[in-house]
Amino acid sequence: MDGPAAQRSNLLTKRCALGADQDVPHSPASQASRYADAMASATNSSKSPAPDPDHVDRLSRFITGLPKAELHLHIEGSLEPEMLVELAARNGVELPFADVEAVRAAYSFTNLQSFLDIYYQGAAVLQTEADFYDLMKAYLVRAHADGVVRTEMFFDPQTHTERSIGFDVFMPGFLKAMADAETEMGVSTGLIMCFLRHLPGSAAVETFHAAADYHDQLLGVGLDSAEVGNPPENFVEAFDLAAEAGLHRVTHAGEEGPPSYITGALDALGAERIDHGVRAEEDPALMDRLAMSGIALTVCPRSNLELCVIDDLADHNLKRLADAGLTITLNSDDPAYFGGYVAKNYLDTALALDLTEADLVSFARNSIDATFASAEQQAEWTRSLDDYVDGFGLSG
Ligand SMILES: [Zn+2]
Repeated sequence: MDGPAAQRSNLLTKRCALGADQDVPHSPASQASRYADAMASATNSSKSPAPDPDHVDRLSRFITGLPKAELHLHIEGSLEPEMLVELAARNGVELPFADVEAVRAAYSFTNLQSFLDIYYQGAAVLQTEADFYDLMKAYLVRAHADGVVRTEMFFDPQTHTERSIGFDVFMPGFLKAMADAETEMGVSTGLIMCFLRHLPGSAAVETFHAAADYHDQLLGVGLDSAEVGNPPENFVEAFDLAAEAGLHRVTHAGEEGPPSYITGALDALGAERIDHGVRAEEDPALMDRLAMSGIALTVCPRSNLELCVIDDLADHNLKRLADAGLTITLNSDDPAYFGGYVAKNYLDTALALDLTEADLVSFARNSIDATFASAEQQAEWTRSLDDYVDGFGLSG
């Protein structure tokens, strides 16, 4: 990768245009800004000095080979600009961008909503089973190259059904690519169907029923999209139906929304993992609860940076959360939009927070333990992690 995106993706800081929003009460940007201020004042770390290239190279190779699971990945968010332009041409979709570089330039955000506006526009090029196959296969090839042995991926059916692309189009494409990747590369996969929380709870229930033919192929359900103003309690009925069908439940919470949304996800929806969850730190009782329960947070550092939840990776609180006993995992969220896949998230976070290899091994170990795979499969991946770590003379 070269050009502006390469430059951007190497940055550990971001200048966020939050000033104009700061007087708007309850706006996501103003909440994010307050959170960033709180995190900045809570850390004594100096901002990232230029890293030694040899150190970066050695660390990068260590991370890439480290067996890990990815637990927070939106498949539609892996749509690279090149594929977006290619699929638009294939399907005769007109784009408001002249070329790939113009798309890249548009991938610049000030908050979650500004990202979502472009994200939904990009998804419009996905129209046929072959498109969904290509999207899924490209991500799995990329994840495999990053040392991912297991990935539990989100998809947003309502983004497609709202434009009359049905389950019978995207599900066969996804499932065939997953089967091929398992056969060809040995990557273990699972699909988590997310409900869009800016839509009503009744729409989530309808979506759950519309997916009936594919319930057996799903690992679980989740909740994503615009968080603030859309609390988890709106989705109790859909999540209860999912639980009755034997599906796992996860929820985005505490990214831009308050800690009470995390509590709501646990109490009202029975969430088994919390996606993001970084604002848990504002509620000591919740911190104790998460530490005691071992419920994992699927943290996405580069996403938090690009969406201005923080404006410097050195300000990220994930190490403090881990030190407080929470189960932290590192993930890429929407890698095509946020400047890097999972290994890049490990690397940039390690450099910004001065993490050790042992810290990274701990996050990888957590990611395997937090999968919904069988205990036997988890044990096998943990053995390969231990073997890998032993090979480096490290104790994990
Ligand atoms: Zn997400």
